Amino acid sequence: MNKTVDGIILEVKDYREYDAILRVLTFEDGMISVVAKGIRKIASKNAAVSQRFMHVRFYLDYKEGQTIHGMRTADKLESFRHIREDLIKQSIASVLCDMLLSFCSDMEKEVYEKLLLTFKRLDQTAKPYAPAAMFLAYILALQGMKPVVERCVHCGSVERICSFSAADGGFVCADCYRQEMRKETREDLKCFRLLVLADDAHYDVMEQYAEWSFHHFDGLFSFFEQYSGIHLKSMRFLRNIETMDFRNS
Ligand SMILES: [Zn+2]
Repeated sequence: MNKTVDGIILEVKDYREYDAILRVLTFEDGMISVVAKGIRKIASKNAAVSQRFMHVRFYLDYKEGQTIHGMRTADKLESFRHIREDLIKQSIASVLCDMLLSFCSDMEKEVYEKLLLTFKRLDQTAKPYAPAAMFLAYILALQGMKPVVERCVHCGSVERICSFSAADGGFVCADCYRQEMRKETREDLKCFRLLVLADDAHYDVMEQYAEWSFHHFDGLFSFFEQYSGIHLKSMRFLRNIETMDFRNS
């Protein structure tokens, strides 16, 4: 059966000599795999649209009830060129894709829409960690890992909050603070709170609110690592480039 499906390519894996298997997040079918034959051949018409992060309309040989389908052809809907051309944006997008691939057995339709929106924002923004951290906060809530940011997780105090701890589950006050925790500035605590509580509709206000940095993304990602037990190579890479900061050298 022929079927047209729109999706975002999360992963491209080489398969046999000239073929690849694409992992694609779609609105209707959740996560599917698409066999893209011959895309490693020089003359391939489908090679240009079979790249990671792309938003693509696929024309598939669709097998009802299956999760792997053959690709006949495909059209580019959005290439997200600025993500592809920027090392930091590209690394962030890799982390988001890998995170979804790591747990995505029954993906909700909303995840597709949120990821698409996040990629559009990531493509256009000068503050890549704003949309990225917001998507991360959304995934944490969806997976039941939402950090507590309304009060101290231990004593319930709303005063003298000084740390945001993944091991503890959220905000910690000065009385419950332990040596091994990292002290956060008031400004960063506000940022974490905003990311966790902000509604998507207020994205523009949120983006303006702060100089969103890797620290905000990393702080939330620690929750994902803590509660899923999943450690991603792409996140290790992003941590490395952010700590070395060779972009400015
Ligand atoms: Zn406390």
